[in-house]
Amino acid sequence: MIDFHCHIDLFPDPYKAAHEIRKTGAYVLSVTTTPKAFPKTSQLSKGSSRIRTALGLHPQLALERKNELSLFEHLIGETNYVGEVGLDGGRDFRSSAHTQKEVFSQILQFCENRGGRIISIHSRHAATEVLYHLRQKPSCGTPVLHWFSGTNEELDQAISQGCWFSVGLPMTRSQKGQAILAKLPRNRVLTETDAPFAGSSIVPALHSVQKKFAEIWSVTEEEAELMLHNNLKRLLARQ
Ligand code: MN
Repeated sequence: MIDFHCHIDLFPDPYKAAHEIRKTGAYVLSVTTTPKAFPKTSQLSKGSSRIRTALGLHPQLALERKNELSLFEHLIGETNYVGEVGLDGGRDFRSSAHTQKEVFSQILQFCENRGGRIISIHSRHAATEVLYHLRQKPSCGTPVLHWFSGTNEELDQAISQGCWFSVGLPMTRSQKGQAILAKLPRNRVLTETDAPFAGSSIVPALHSVQKKFAEIWSVTEEEAELMLHNNLKRLLARQ
C-alpha cells in the first residue's frame, strides 16, 4: 500500500503513529507544513526505508512562515521530496494570496536549482494558478497534485502538463471526485490519506481507494494495487 501524503508529525502522538504506520508495511510520504518541522519529522522515519520525509511550507501558513524560506533552501539538499507546498485560493486565505505565490514560486525555484524534486502540491481553489507557476519552472521536478479538486478544464491542463495525482478517500465519495478519478491517467496516480486531517485509520482508507480504482479500471483490487506500486517505482526512478 502507498500513502503518498500523510502528516505523521501532526498526529497527537507522532512516535506512536510512526510506529503503527511502520507495522503496516505501507510506503509513506511523510509531508511537513513548515521547514522548522522537517528535522524532527525526519527522525520519525529513521531506520524505515519505506517512510520518506518531505520538506514543506503549507500555503495556509505562508504569511506567518515566509521567514523560514532561507531554512527551506538550507534543508532542501537533505531530501528528494518537497511537500506540502502550493497555493490555497479559499476565502480564508485570500489575504495571503500574494505572499503564497511568492513563497511557492521561490520553492519551485529551489527545486529547479537542485535538479528537481518530487513535489506534493496543495491546489485547493487555486489549480489554475498552481499550473501557471509550474509552467514557469519546467525543471522543478515531478509535481504530484494532492487531493485535486479543480474543474474539468484544469484537470485536462494538469494532465497535459505531466502532473501526477495522489488520491484519498474523500475524493472517492463525491460525484465530482469520482468524475476526476475516472479521467486520471492510470500510470500517473498514487493513493494517499492526508491523515490525520481526512481521518486517521490509514489501512482501511487506502484499501477503499484501491477498491475504487479497481472498480474504475475494471481490474481486481490486487491488480489495482500492483499498478499503483508500479507507478510508485516509476516515479522514484525519475529522481
Ligand atoms: Mn495535507
